[in-house]
Parts: sequence; C-alpha cells; structure tokens
Amino acid sequence: MSAILAKAKLCPALNTLMHPLTLAFVLALLAHLAVQTWLARRQIAHVMAHRGSVPPGFESAVSAAEHAKAADYAGARQRVGIVETIYDAAVVMALTLGGGIAVLGQWVAGVTQPGVLAGTLHLLAAFAFMTLAGLPFTVYRTFVLEQRFGFNRTGPATFLADQLKAWALGLVLGGAVAACVLWIMATAGSAWWVVGWAAWLSFSLLVTWAWPRLIAPLFNKFSPLEDRPLRERIDALLARCDFHAKAVYVMDGSRRSAHGNAYFTGLGREKRIVFFDTLLSSLGPAQIESVLAHELAHFKLRHIPQRLVAGAALSLAGFALLGWLSRQEWFYTALGVPAASDAAALLLFLLVLPAFTWIVSPLLAAWSRRHEYEADAFAAQHADAGSLAEALVTLYKDNATTLTPDPLYSAFHDSHPPPAARIERLRAVCTPAAVTP
Ligand SMILES: [Zn+2]
Repeated sequence: MSAILAKAKLCPALNTLMHPLTLAFVLALLAHLAVQTWLARRQIAHVMAHRGSVPPGFESAVSAAEHAKAADYAGARQRVGIVETIYDAAVVMALTLGGGIAVLGQWVAGVTQPGVLAGTLHLLAAFAFMTLAGLPFTVYRTFVLEQRFGFNRTGPATFLADQLKAWALGLVLGGAVAACVLWIMATAGSAWWVVGWAAWLSFSLLVTWAWPRLIAPLFNKFSPLEDRPLRERIDALLARCDFHAKAVYVMDGSRRSAHGNAYFTGLGREKRIVFFDTLLSSLGPAQIESVLAHELAHFKLRHIPQRLVAGAALSLAGFALLGWLSRQEWFYTALGVPAASDAAALLLFLLVLPAFTWIVSPLLAAWSRRHEYEADAFAAQHADAGSLAEALVTLYKDNATTLTPDPLYSAFHDSHPPPAARIERLRAVCTPAAVTP
C-alpha cells in the first residue's frame, strides 16, 4: 500500500488523473491531434489527386512539371507537419502531466531563493527546453525539406548565427518580460492581471516600434530602393492612395531562401515598405505596384488596427482567466505541478491554453481571408487587377504554393483564400482589354 502511494507521489499524472481539468486537457489535446492529422491527410490526398493536371485558368502560366512539384512540396510539408504535431503534443505532455515543469521548479529552488529571479529562471529554463526540443524540426525543414525543393539558401554558418542571435534575443527580451510580469504578479495584488495586461500591451507596442529599427537589421540587410522608375511608380501610387510611408527598402531575403514576399512595418508616420529582393527579381513594375496596393489596403481599410484591437481584447480575456486560475490550487495539481508558484501558473497557462483555443482558429482564418479579398478589391481599384492576378500566379509558381488545396483544410487553416477563387475574382473585375492575351 505504501509502495503504491510512493509511486503515485513520484508520478504527478497518477495523482491527478481524476480531476476534471486533467481529463478535459487530455481530451482536448487528443481531439486537436485527431483533427489536425485528419485535415493534413485530407490535404495530402486532395493535392495528390489533382497532381496530374494544371487547374483551368493557370495552364498558360504554370507547367505540368511546376504543378507536380507544388503538389509534392505540399505533401512533404504536411507529412512533416503531422509528425511535428504529435511530437509537440508529447513535449507539452512531458512538461505538464509528465512533471517537467515541477522538475525544473525543483532545480531552480536548489539554485536560488524563491522570488522574481527564481521565477524568471524557471520560465527561461522551460523555454530553453522547448526551443531545444523543436530544433530537430527547424534543422530538418531548412536543410532537408527546403533543400530538396530548391528553396534553401541558408548555409550552416548563417543557420548557426541566426539561432545564436535568436536565442540571445529570447534571453534578453523574454527574460525582461518574464521578470516584469512576475514582479507585477508578486506586488500588484489580486487585480495584478489588469496591470500585467497593460504592461504586456506596452511591450507589444515597443517591439512593433523596435523591430524594423533594431531587431530586423540583426538578421538582414536593408537598403533603400535604388530603381528610380519603380520608385516613381510607387510614389505615385502612395500619393494616389494618400498614404505616408517613411521609406521603401529592399531586404536581402535571398540570403536564406528563394521564397519571395513584401510587407509593411512600423507605426503611425514611421511606416516602412519592405520588398524581398527575391520578389523584385521575379515581378515586373506593374505587378510590384499591384502587390504594394494590396499591402497598402490592409492599412487603408483599417485591417491592422482591427487586428490590434482584437488582439488586445483577447489578451485581456487571457490575463483575466490567468488571474483567476492562478489562485486555484487545482489548476496546478491537475496539470502535474504539486506546488503553486507564479512561474508555474504562467507556464501552465501558455502550454495548456492552445489545447483548447485551436477550436476558434477557423474563425480567425475566415476573418483573415475576408480581409484578403477586401485588399484585393482595393488593389484592383487603385492599381491594376490583371497585374495583381499575374503577380499572384507568379508568386504561387515561384513559391510552389499548391493551386488545389482541400476545401476543408483550407477553410480551417488558410489565412489567404484558395488561389483559384482569388484569381477568379480578380479576373472578373479586369477590363476586357486586360484579359485578352
Ligand atoms: Zn494581404
């Protein structure tokens, strides 16, 4: 009898298996695994079933070989994704019910006195463990998957330097945020979560400001766009849309990958436009202008502030929930942590919450797809719809994006509309002159 009790003490999962939260967490995690795997397998089957023929409307731009490559790339990525989803769930289980957070907490208690420093160490140790656990997949994606399909341009030296820089950043920024939140939890009383949320918001804004200036230049070179005719074209578009951007930059994305992209960054009047060099080399001036008009639309149509407000509201709800959960003893014991602490509350919340919140991800994806359609319509008005359609087809082709995703998979996961639907809408608004070959 005493042997059984001793065993139960050693294994937190045995102790807590009966708590409703334990059961709900395990079931939610398993449901997530089942749905993710089912959708990924649907995606593979659908893409492979359409591998043999280029969909109508794309025949002139995409060859049979390019279409088949996109299918193989999508299939390979989904197969790695399935393995990674299962692996990630195992890591989360090991840290929670498996007793990982508790073990790291004991280690920290042996090193330093309880307090903000100990809590910060506890959080950093857990994040270091998760980063190391995820490293094999980062290596595999870069040097096997991307390499096999001809996209990888990252050498081992760049890869190592990137990892070291990212870890140093994580240590400094992550450590500062962790210490700040833990200090608020310890000193601000029972309504600490309101103060914590305000601090979190300020930190997010600070990072948004600092990212283009201080952080992104650690990883890439940014140079002003030299191409004069293109610059004039862009300035004309910005003037037409009454948009103020501080500068237009070209980023050396080709150092790491052949994938192309463009984005806006910054706040208020400090906005910057960034083009990947890979995008500039594959698109013509009219196409670049239309891509920029699309990106601009996300600002003009207030998509970015809407997302910021939604994010702030969701994080307030998250902090309120954490504020309540952190005071419940069962929150810790039901999830594999025998002794309550602020650091354990934060870790459990960050690890366990995604097992439940994945259910709303299709709603967020649908919201994002609506914004994409709206941005396309804006671009069609202020630039040229035909050019945007051409640009998108070129980008789909260059990035080996599948043109034939599974409808359910796409509805659940995709932040952008399926290529065929998106191109069809753009071509529908083209002037007859623009569609004639
Ligand atoms: Zn967009």
